[in-house]
This record gives sequence, C-alpha cells and structure tokens, in this order.
Amino acid sequence: MSAAGLPSVPDQFKVYDSNTIDPKYSRYFTYGWLGSLALALLFSSSFLVLIRSFRSGRFFCGWFIDEDLSPRRKLPSLDQTLHQALLKAEDGDSSRSYKTAKRRGSNKRVLSANQAIVNDGLASAGRLVPTTLGGGGPEVVYRMISRIVYLGIVLLCVLKDAQLSSNPNRFGFLTLAQLTPLFLLSTKNNPLAFILSTGYEKINWAHRWLGRTVWLTATCHGAMWAYKHGRQYTLSNQKTRWGLAVYSFLCLSALTSIKPIRSKCYTLFWIAHMMSIIGFFATIAYHTPFAQPWIYPPIALYAFDLCARLVKLRFKDAELIPLEGMTLIHIPHATHGWLPGQHVYLRIFTSNWSALEPAHPFTILSPPRHPSQTDSSAVERGDGLILLAGCSGNWTRSIHSLARTGQSSCTKAVTSEDSEKTDTPGVAVSVMLDGPYGSFGAHGLSEEKAEVVICIAGGSGVSFLIALAEEARAEWAAIGSRARSGVKVIELIWVVRTLAMYTSLEALLSPLLSSRVRLSVYLTQSPPPTANEDAPTVRPYTTLHFIKPDLGATLRTLMDEHAPVSGVSVRACGPSGLVRQVERSVGELGRAVRTEVGGISFEAESFNV
Ligand SMILES: Cc1cc2nc3c(=O)[nH]c(=O)nc-3n(C[C@H](O)[C@H](O)[C@H](O)COP(=O)(O)OP(=O)(O)OC[C@H]3O[C@@H](n4cnc5c(N)ncnc54)[C@H](O)[C@@H]3O)c2cc1C
Repeated sequence: MSAAGLPSVPDQFKVYDSNTIDPKYSRYFTYGWLGSLALALLFSSSFLVLIRSFRSGRFFCGWFIDEDLSPRRKLPSLDQTLHQALLKAEDGDSSRSYKTAKRRGSNKRVLSANQAIVNDGLASAGRLVPTTLGGGGPEVVYRMISRIVYLGIVLLCVLKDAQLSSNPNRFGFLTLAQLTPLFLLSTKNNPLAFILSTGYEKINWAHRWLGRTVWLTATCHGAMWAYKHGRQYTLSNQKTRWGLAVYSFLCLSALTSIKPIRSKCYTLFWIAHMMSIIGFFATIAYHTPFAQPWIYPPIALYAFDLCARLVKLRFKDAELIPLEGMTLIHIPHATHGWLPGQHVYLRIFTSNWSALEPAHPFTILSPPRHPSQTDSSAVERGDGLILLAGCSGNWTRSIHSLARTGQSSCTKAVTSEDSEKTDTPGVAVSVMLDGPYGSFGAHGLSEEKAEVVICIAGGSGVSFLIALAEEARAEWAAIGSRARSGVKVIELIWVVRTLAMYTSLEALLSPLLSSRVRLSVYLTQSPPPTANEDAPTVRPYTTLHFIKPDLGATLRTLMDEHAPVSGVSVRACGPSGLVRQVERSVGELGRAVRTEVGGISFEAESFNV
C-alpha cells in the first residue's frame, strides 16, 4: 500500500524510469572522476611544484610572449657573427665532411677504432658503447592505473541498477557525462594541466583515450536501441534521425583520429576534428533535452581556450634561414615571456589559405630575455625568438624550400638541387605565433634536485638541448646571488642523420659547451672517416659517434661514470620513436643502478601527437 492508501505496483511490473534514474548515474560518474582526480592530486607533488615555482617567480613567466613594438626600418638580423657562422656552415660544411677539415686544437683526439671522435677540452678518453632495447617506464604504470580507475567508474555507473536490455539510455547519459573530462584534457590553455604543473600535451594521451570510451558508450547506446527495435527501427522518428547525426559526427572524429591518419594526414584529422566538434554540439540538443546541462562545461572550457589563445596571438615579421635538413626561424621582435623548453604554434603566411591551415608547434630554442634586457640594443643584436624546424612532412619541407629558394611549394621535397640555388641569407616572412605552451613541468633547472641531467634529442629536438644548455648557462652565471640549482653536470646527446646537419648548428651549440655541459653527437647516416680521410674537426667538449646510439648502454655508461650522485634526471625530446626508446631504456635500468645514482626521473617531449 502506498501512503495515499493506493495499492503499490510490484517491483517486477514497474517500468524503468530512465529519465529519473539515469541522470543520477551521470552525476555519480562526475563525482567519481572528480573525486579520483582530487585524490590523485592530493598524493602527487604537483601542488608543491606549484608553490615552489610561485616562490621562485617562475610561475609568473611563460604565459605571454612580449614584443618589441617600437617602429623600426628593417628586420634586425641574427647576431652578425652567428649569422655568418650558420651560413658558412650551410654553404660549405655539407661537403666539408672529412677531407677539408682542418685540425684546430691540440686537445683533439681521434678514436677511429670505435668510430668516435672526441674533443673533451682536456684530451680525456671518449665515451661510447653498444646496446639493446625493451622494457617500460613508470609513466606506463601511471597511465595504466588511470585507465583502469576510469574504466571502473564508467562500468560501475553503466551497470548499477540499470535495465539496459529494456532501456539502453544509460549509455547515452554516460556519453554526455564524459564530455567534460574529454574537453578538460584537450584544450591548450588547460586548467588541469596548470594544476598538475605540466604541459597540455603531456596529458593529451588521456584525451585520446577518453575519446575512444565516449565513442564506445555512444555506439552501445545506438546499437542496443537498434537491436531492441529490430525491424521497427525507423528513420521517420525525429529523435532517431538526430541521434544518427550526432553519432556520425562522433564516428568522423573517432575515425580520423586514429594514429595512421593523425601522423600521415594531420590536416585531415584537424579539419575533421573541428567539423565534428561543431556538428556534435549543434545536433546533440535536438537529439535529447537531457544534453543541456552536460554541454555547458565543455563549451565553457573550449570558449575559455579560444579566448586565451586570442590573447596569446602575436603577428610578427620573421626571417627563415635554411640549414642542412632544417630551417631556422628567427622572430627578432619577440623579446621575452617564455620559459626554456616551451613551444609555440606557428603559422607562416605564404598564401591566402595559410590562416586556415593548422598551426604547427615548435620548441623555442632561444633563451628568454629578462625584461631589463629588452632594450633596443638587445633586439638589434638579433636576440628574439628562435625556432628550428626539421623537414618531416609537406609543410616543414615547403618552408625549407621557401627559405632556400624564396618560393613556397607545398609538395616539393628538398633535393640537392635546392641547396645549390641558395645564396640568400634568409627570407623575410610574416608569421603568427600562438603560445607559449608546455614546458618540462613548472620547475626549471633552478628547481631541479638531480645533480646530473641527461638530455637526449633526435633531429630537430636539438632545440631543447640548446634551450637547456642556455638555461644552465644563465643559472650557473647567477651562482652566489640566487643559486638554487643542484645540477652539476649536463650530458647532451643528439641523434642526428648526417655530419652536415651537426656542422650547420655547431655555431649555436659549441659556445654553450663546457666541462659541465658535454655533447655527444650520434650520426646515424654518415659513414665514419676511412684511414685515408682526415677526421672532421670537433669543437671542445664534443664527441662524434658514427653509429646509431645504443641508448640503454649509453645511459648505463653515463650512470656508471657519474655515480655516486644524488639523483639523475633523464629528458628526451624529438620524434616519438626515439622518446619511447629512451623511456624504455630508463625503465630497464635496474634497482642497483637507481640506488647508486640516488634515483632517476624521466620527462619527455614527443614531436608526434
Ligand atoms: C610540443 C611539440 C613541439 C615540437 N617542436 C618541434 C621542433 O622544435 N622542431 C621540429 O622540427 N618539430 C617540432 N615538432 C613537430 C612538428 O610540429 C611537426 O613535425 C610539424 O608540425 C610537421 O608538419 P609537416 O606538415 O611538415 O609534417 P606532417 O608529415 O604533416 O606531420 C609529421 C608529424 O608531425 C605531427 N604534426 C603535423 N602537423 C602538426 C600540427 N599542426 N600540430 C601538431 N603535430 C603535427 C604529426 O603527428 C605527424 O606525425 C613539435 C611537435 C610538438 C607536439
């Protein structure tokens, strides 16, 4: 009997009230992921990192690029000596290889037996050994736990008290509830990344993963309704038609986001993503009135991101300088406002359509200038923002070709004839910058606790090596006044295809090297000098290896060399293949090694999204 004295309906005859029960589980799901995130944050050190960066003043840097807006007649070039050195290397060094090399210093040593040429500034022995790969890292475990916890919450909220066979709407409600975390993990100006003291790109893997669970729950929702109605499943129903429209936008996004499409046709992935976001939000409210509360947070997050990006946008003049297999992009009037290791999104206006293409991320290799240094003389000297773009695909090849020939061609590959055409020091272009973003945590070298930093970069990832060495130079120069960094030695390892690519950047790299910052270059496609050839000239504190690196063994050798120390930080930057190899190699280092060096931390910046 009910309170009103009416007979109550037995449970087995009650109709499942989806519109009342299912929204409750969407809310439980939200409490679940928010609670887990709060717990994870509580047990992580991200708040401490935030407080440290606040105290050191680093917190206030790296938000907006400051620019020199004073009127000027011409585009200031890179510092003349540096410019000349870069162009000289570019002109002659690809053919200079071994034959034209002149011996410069008495401290140079040639170890042709193991194919390594060393100049350690002290005539000491070289460092080189062979290796194997395989294994995993702590990041893998952390990601796995996050996935299991998230999936557990989704499953619990889908299955608990649900009657999916009679009413599969629970899947639909869960799809809606997942939109907020999906967008929270996707935007560039990301509150979560800020709290975690990390870059948005470091948590983007979770966005990709959540995208799949959103698609899966939406598929279950649609498929179960289709199965339930069987032949009666009809398109004459408005709700069904809108539902199919929503689902096709989700499928468009899911299909074009798969790795092969992302890496082979990034522009297609980007356009499809934009279209599906707009299409999804335009159609979902027609499909169900219950979408209303769930679409506001993602729209707010996306709108915040767009506004922040607008505030960060800068339109500047730039100079493109062709180097061997790379293009140096110099933006002289961008003066400071970034942190070492951060990146910017770049558009180069070569045609009317450039503004509609996706912007490309590049790591900033130049050191940020302190505001007090932004007098006109600093800018005239050629300081500013410098980026280095490899030649990995159509766009980067087209800007390389533009830098060499002054003409843009989107499909032309870089050929040796291109190099012959060049006698232009650089090509002036207009660019759009969006950023800065990212960085290796909110902590810089000044808050680094490890005594030894090993930084491994592949190809144009050398930008990060240069930025790190520049940061070390500035940090160590401040010793006495505000010395905070515990870092004693930095080992830079650059894996690059040819000797010519190394020599084209020698002028930027060499001045940064010292007994505390040493560079090992692994040339993967240049054959070692034969007995009849002169060995190439090597600058001090540099080792040249004419082999593919054996990263595991190289890391172990460096650990042995530096042990005992109080902590080693390994960083990797460049193509995803190399970053994964480094991560695996770090994961393979045994407990004994870790104890001996006081613990090993790992951070990475992968160029492939
Ligand atoms: C955080 C970050 C920092 C980077 N820093 C540098 C750097 O300092 N120097 C450098 O040479 N490269 C850097 N890259 C990689 C660089 O952005 C891509 O190589 C470049 O965009 C390739 O464009 P493409 O059309 O020539 O090649 P494509 O053949 O179209 O793409 C090659 C690869 O680049 C990625 N990619 C392509 N377009 C974009 C885009 N708009 N946004 C993100 N990824 C894209 C794709 O995953 C693809 O696998 C960085 C990437 C990231 C994510």
